[in-house]
Amino acid sequence: MKNNANNYSLLNLDERDSAAKLFVGESLQLSGCEVSFNRLAAGEAAPFVHAHKKNEELYIITAGSGLFYLDGEEIAIRSGSLIRVAPAASRAWKAGDNGMEFICIQTEAGSLHQATRQDGIICDAEQPSWAK
Ligand code: ZN
Repeated sequence: MKNNANNYSLLNLDERDSAAKLFVGESLQLSGCEVSFNRLAAGEAAPFVHAHKKNEELYIITAGSGLFYLDGEEIAIRSGSLIRVAPAASRAWKAGDNGMEFICIQTEAGSLHQATRQDGIICDAEQPSWAK
């Protein structure tokens, strides 16, 4: 874990313990979203169905496959699947025969009012070593 004033935080996932779920918002001092890294063994499932009061979630399946439960429907998911889930939707998941890993990004629905092209600023005065 590395912090430089308040301008950035660095966490290397290969330094984490084998916890099945790791929330990084607090350790990285995230102020606009929560992110969790999730690892399920073959056949392992979320222990409950849940929804949210205000937050939408983006699930990014990064390895394996499984099933995603959404408002009573079950859909097949696999590495590369992206699932946006509105706050009120009930959700759960189960890993397939080879387990499953996913990243979940949680943020308040409707809170993003600008993104890359509207928010980015080119910093002409600075260059990394590889650009010199
Ligand atoms: Zn959630």
